[in-house]
Amino acid sequence: MPTALIVGGGVVGPALGMFLARAGWQARILEASPARNADEGAFLNLATNGLDVLDQLGLRDAILAEGHRAGRMVMLSGRGRELGVVPNGPAGDLERGGVVVRRSHLHAVLRDGAAKAGVPIEYDARVTGIRSSRDAATATLAGSRELRADVVIGADGIGSLTRTWIDPGAPAPTYTGLVGLGGFARVPGIAPTPETQVMVFGARAFFGYLVRDDGLGYWFANLTSPEPDRRALGAIPTASWLARLAELHRDDPFPVRELVAHTVGAVSAYPIHALPNVPHWHRDRVVALGDAVHATSPSAGQGASLALEDAITLARALRDAPDHTTAFDAFVRMRRPRVERIVGYARAVDRNKRVTRSRVGIAIRDAMLPRFLARAMDDHRNDDLYAYRVDWNAEGVPVG
Ligand SMILES: Cc1cc2nc3c(=O)[nH]c(=O)nc-3n(C[C@H](O)[C@H](O)[C@H](O)COP(=O)(O)OP(=O)(O)OC[C@H]3O[C@@H](n4cnc5c(N)ncnc54)[C@H](O)[C@@H]3O)c2cc1C
Repeated sequence: MPTALIVGGGVVGPALGMFLARAGWQARILEASPARNADEGAFLNLATNGLDVLDQLGLRDAILAEGHRAGRMVMLSGRGRELGVVPNGPAGDLERGGVVVRRSHLHAVLRDGAAKAGVPIEYDARVTGIRSSRDAATATLAGSRELRADVVIGADGIGSLTRTWIDPGAPAPTYTGLVGLGGFARVPGIAPTPETQVMVFGARAFFGYLVRDDGLGYWFANLTSPEPDRRALGAIPTASWLARLAELHRDDPFPVRELVAHTVGAVSAYPIHALPNVPHWHRDRVVALGDAVHATSPSAGQGASLALEDAITLARALRDAPDHTTAFDAFVRMRRPRVERIVGYARAVDRNKRVTRSRVGIAIRDAMLPRFLARAMDDHRNDDLYAYRVDWNAEGVPVG
């Protein structure tokens, strides 16, 4: 039975482990963080294309059980005027639109799924070194423990060790100029936003929110900021963030300030990076996927979905190709053009999120956007973002 060590048990690692198990591989996941963290991250949008992969894993219902369906996004000006409505999924097909889930729920569903499929996940297991020889690949863990397999697969996210092992000259992620904050809130009497996320071009920062049927609000804010140190950012207490947000959003429309004021639990804060062009995704018996080789800013709502697409594509290539090198080549050939296009698209959205303070700039944006967005709900130009599908039951190395 062929064997794989998967470095990282975030989104793509467990999904890949499940597909590899189906393909007759013995996979094992090494995850640096401790087992469970219910406050991990805030929430994320799973797009139609990512949901399709979860469906093929039999996990769609488990995700939907706690997710908020959000097939459309309502855009508001800083004064609360509706600027337009855009689809969050294929145009004209609200049912198949995106779903917003807590990151901790997505992790739990994927990790439980992997464990049930017979893929062990070892926590507190940080890989510190990789080697590849003619007949095996080796991962080293703290304490000099070594594990061997036929291949090592880097699912280790934006700070990937695997990426730099594959190519020590690999580009580093670039900071987008935005810090992402997220939290949960219960505002007394607030109305739910069924099928919808609301985006607000706030006076000093971009803000997004939704309210579930049970009244729990999910909110995020994007602050324009010089690049912060990640550890220092993580050490900022929730109370300080809330005070800063209250100030930044003091002129913004209902319920922006209220959501901030009624936040429950911790505020998550992340510098937002992008990683557009990584030239080498594999070397010898080692390959990387997901954010490790193509991180997109959250603005397209596609990072996790692209990672899930990677998982099914790489596993199918390993299932059907005669050897790992042919499989890795096929995987990169199939994935690179799509992911690079979407990373570019997310960058364009980021530019729109950077706050303009000029009154003229705001007036022009608020006058022009309704015209641009007037027919957005019937605009099919982005449909190929969502229609992408790799069929697990098809045979042969995927060719795109
Ligand atoms: C603020 C923010 C909001 C976002 N919102 C969205 C959204 O709405 N929709 C969306 O699709 N995407 C969103 N994303 C992007 C999304 O989170 C990523 O694209 C997705 O998590 C990528 O999955 P991954 O498995 O490749 O990496 P990750 O989820 O980052 O997982 C990597 C895992 O590897 C582990 N690891 C790292 N190094 C090692 C090591 N040396 N040894 C062992 N384990 C290791 C880490 O602990 C982690 O668990 C957002 C990102 C941010 C920062």
